Amino acid sequence: MSVPGYGVLADPWWLAIVFVLVMGHITNLGNTLYLHRCATHGGVEFHPVVEHFLRFWIWATTGIVTKEWVAVHRKHHAYADREGDPHSPEEEGLWAILLAGVFFYQRATRDEELMEKYGKGPDDWIERNVYSKHSSLGILLVLLLDIYLFGAGIGLAVWSTMAIWMPIMGNIINGAGHALGYRNFETRDHSSNLYPWGIWILGEELHNNHHADPKSAKFKAHWWEFDIGWYYIKLLDAVGLANVVYARSESPEEFAAGRYD
Ligand SMILES: [Zn+2]
Ligand SMILES: [Zn+2]
Repeated sequence: MSVPGYGVLADPWWLAIVFVLVMGHITNLGNTLYLHRCATHGGVEFHPVVEHFLRFWIWATTGIVTKEWVAVHRKHHAYADREGDPHSPEEEGLWAILLAGVFFYQRATRDEELMEKYGKGPDDWIERNVYSKHSSLGILLVLLLDIYLFGAGIGLAVWSTMAIWMPIMGNIINGAGHALGYRNFETRDHSSNLYPWGIWILGEELHNNHHADPKSAKFKAHWWEFDIGWYYIKLLDAVGLANVVYARSESPEEFAAGRYD
């Protein structure tokens, strides 16, 4: 191949794995910090530099449109595990959500009434003319970049892994996060904490804690729970790149007192 630099990262073989893990980590940050804790629930705001970077990254690696994601997720909170929930393992079956959660997500984004009522998101020039208008362009450009960096075979494998990365994360949270694990709060839904330490999904595993108090930018409730997304927020806050609007400070017992019987 005569293109200069083509396949430059193809060797050694483990570079592709490191690349996917680093890219995926940043995609998960875009999901939990920007789409979820900031755009949907407003528990934290970011400096425009951070916000634009995360928006760009979500566009480039997932093709998700912020307004659609926010709408589906806000409706999920409004109807969690009841009729009207866009993706409930209670309503649809756990395996359906684990294996085909994307189908339920896409079905919800086609619901104009849902979009009208719950959709909210950025409405600036780049959103209207690039991110929303050409939502698939980013992942196509990244496909070309991956093939350029790794060559066709490994490049396609890297890209495919990234393409299913976010759907897998979503399916696990929306499926298992409403069916398996432990609960700190007796919320009306079936939300659960999958495990106390989540290296991969950056705090999203504490899904019952989140449903108990959705606006809180901090998902952890016990000292022994490890919410990486929250530590990123604290770090960004410390250097003036984030502003925490609300973070639950009470202990689970204090918070739950009088709320759940
Ligand atoms: Zn949920
Ligand atoms: Zn939420």
